[in-house]
Amino acid sequence: MERQTMFAAIKERMPEKRYIHTIGVMETAIRLANQYDESPKKAEIAAIFHDIAKYADVAWMKQVVTDQQLDARLLDWDAEILHGPVGAWIVETEFQINDEAILNAIRYHTTGRANMTTFEKIIYVADMIEPNRKFLGVEELRTLADISLEDAFRACVTHTLSFLVSSQQAIYPVSIECYNSLIREE
Ligand code: GDP
Ligand code: FE
Ligand code: FE
Repeated sequence: MERQTMFAAIKERMPEKRYIHTIGVMETAIRLANQYDESPKKAEIAAIFHDIAKYADVAWMKQVVTDQQLDARLLDWDAEILHGPVGAWIVETEFQINDEAILNAIRYHTTGRANMTTFEKIIYVADMIEPNRKFLGVEELRTLADISLEDAFRACVTHTLSFLVSSQQAIYPVSIECYNSLIREE
């Protein structure tokens, strides 16, 4: 699929700020894919589409979860958790992208999951460290990503979960499975 076609498709579904974030994720994901021997073209596609459902109607997304028999636990959560799994479904059905590596990277880009592939980690990390992200500690995560994808991924997951705990937000079970799988593989 042409880059411009994908850009046009996502642009109309999100505000300018999210579009700019997406371009940043794309550039970062392509760079990491080249560095860590994954397909830069697949990284481009996964990154461009990763937040396609971020602004979709929540009731509509829950209907998709029910109709498509996605994980029923999603029904108790909002757009932040729904947009990955529903985004993957949109990309598959509306854009005929059937590559499971791309779909899983989109599906799990927010929560992660246990035993992630290198490609999934690239999209997860790129989403967090892209140049437009501004949070305390992001510079360290960027530096780490240049040295070791594994270490950067571990640090990104730890950062996300620490943030959620410190701001007293509920943690989706799959995020915890992701964290636990990192601890156990040490
Ligand atoms: P974005 O879509 O580019 O903003 O980034 P993400 O898709 O990675 O994350 C969206 C939001 O979901 C962020 O604010 C994360 O902190 C949040 N998030 C990630 N995992 C969880 C979780 O397990 N529970 C909750 N409540 N929020 C989460
Ligand atoms: Fe997202
Ligand atoms: Fe994102």
